Amino acid sequence: MQSARSECRLFFALWPDDAVRLRIAMTAMKGFRDAGNGVRLVPAPNLHLTLAFLGPVPAERVDAVRDVAACVDVASGSLCLDASGGWRKPQVGWLAPGLVPDALAALERELWGGLVRLGWRRGQPEFRPHVTVVRKLRHPPAPFAFAPICWRYDEFVLCESVSTRAGVRYDIVDRWGRCRVPGSAISEPGGVE
Ligand code: ATP
Ligand code: MG
Repeated sequence: MQSARSECRLFFALWPDDAVRLRIAMTAMKGFRDAGNGVRLVPAPNLHLTLAFLGPVPAERVDAVRDVAACVDVASGSLCLDASGGWRKPQVGWLAPGLVPDALAALERELWGGLVRLGWRRGQPEFRPHVTVVRKLRHPPAPFAFAPICWRYDEFVLCESVSTRAGVRYDIVDRWGRCRVPGSAISEPGGVE
């Protein structure tokens, strides 16, 4: 549900289904298990791949953001997480696609194209898609090998990031791209691999 607050912290993301999130969580647990004291695994329900981070958005601008999403026509594709790594400054560890699929890059480009027209500024010049899997990672370990985690996505979502005492929570505000097959229920996301 969209927040009734005057502004909300929003981002566009790909949200893996339960099976893919579980595989990501298991891989992270194993791969980062010796990464040092204080390292925190991102809870499986929170695992996602950010496409565009908007930051705090005034409530009256959310409809325009939705309009940007509605214009995107490359909402499906597939990707394989087959690389691991970490970044020192944000102290995060991640799994990422070693090769960024064209369709994923196009999705990110289309979203940012619309957001820039609305006045947003891209924080980072380059799209580095990744799923953050651990936090408080002070010493990123060497990349580790793991069985690639592939998933087909057929939608992207708009999320609200909500800070709670128990940690951050992400509420899906809306989703785009999943198509309805006439005479059937909404199609389910593709399986793993
Ligand atoms: P918290 O900030 O509460 O520790 P978080 O970083 O997961 O948790 P947000 O800061 O709301 O929550 O970020 C939501 C998503 O957007 C996350 O995937 C985060 O990595 C990403 N994100 C946050 N800030 C930026 C930014 N400046 N540029 C790109 N992506 C960002
Ligand atoms: Mg943050």
